[in-house]
Amino acid sequence: MRSPSGDLVAALDIGGTKIAGALVDSGGARLRTARRRTPAEKDAAAVAGAVAEVLDELRGAPEWPRVRAAGIGSAGPVDASRGTVSPVNIPGWRDFPLVDEVRRLIGGHPVVLVGDGVAMTAAEHWQGAARGWANALCMVVSTGVGGGLVLDGRLHSGPTGNAGHIGHISVDLDGDACPCGSRGCVERIASGPNIARRALDAGWRPGPDGDATAAGVAAAARAGDPLALASFDRAARALAAGIAATAALVEIGVAVVGGGVAGAGDVLLAPLRRHLRDYAALSFTADVEVVPAMLGSDAGLVGAAAAAAEQVGMWDRRRTS
Ligand SMILES: [Zn+2]
Repeated sequence: MRSPSGDLVAALDIGGTKIAGALVDSGGARLRTARRRTPAEKDAAAVAGAVAEVLDELRGAPEWPRVRAAGIGSAGPVDASRGTVSPVNIPGWRDFPLVDEVRRLIGGHPVVLVGDGVAMTAAEHWQGAARGWANALCMVVSTGVGGGLVLDGRLHSGPTGNAGHIGHISVDLDGDACPCGSRGCVERIASGPNIARRALDAGWRPGPDGDATAAGVAAAARAGDPLALASFDRAARALAAGIAATAALVEIGVAVVGGGVAGAGDVLLAPLRRHLRDYAALSFTADVEVVPAMLGSDAGLVGAAAAAAEQVGMWDRRRTS
């Protein structure tokens, strides 16, 4: 581990409900943190104002002069090649020039932008469940389904910062229309809202606590409810098919599964591993391991810092793999 006087990354994690920031050191520690609610119902300038407030708070910290770069993990779609973001759940930002804005706010240091799935992947590869793996798919199963890839020991974010977006691989050719414009996407089957909707459509009803979300379905599945189990099983099949497709394309060794829905644990992971044996049938795909993510809600910030450090060449990041 480097001395604590080393260079820092100013990390930003931008989502539809909160904008978080931190000063991150070469060991992954967050020295200072700040957060604001995302004013997602307001216009572009108001959302940018919340980002500026977060950075203002970080800039007031005594460690700020050690900042050498900024890393941004944002809800997608993002376009890292142009430095713009158009998060689905922040309607005021369409092709918003976030990289230019942040560069202006932090005084000209390099700014690296990646999608939130890629940021989570960078975090899990640096400090979590994908650590030590040269080839990995990391995925977030939550309100949506996202992901990212590590190939040959390096984060593979792609030209626009979206590579590995497993949520919009189609696994059902004639399946339901997906908001992305395609059909039968993994997300359309395996996201939390879709797990809950499918269980309710089949006749499942929430228990006394009234929890009709995927967490409520998970609790019912754990208690043996067949409709709840069936909904999770369908989600697990979609995820297994997507992981198998990824394994066939780029030969991954491990699939790391995180996000709120993955908090269901074996309710999701046990059928996922079982179905993966059916879909990943080729010899070079058959040994893919499925493991739960290790980093929680901090993964966005840690990963944004890791992605920036890797792209800018700080902290000798390649030694961690
Ligand atoms: Zn889609």
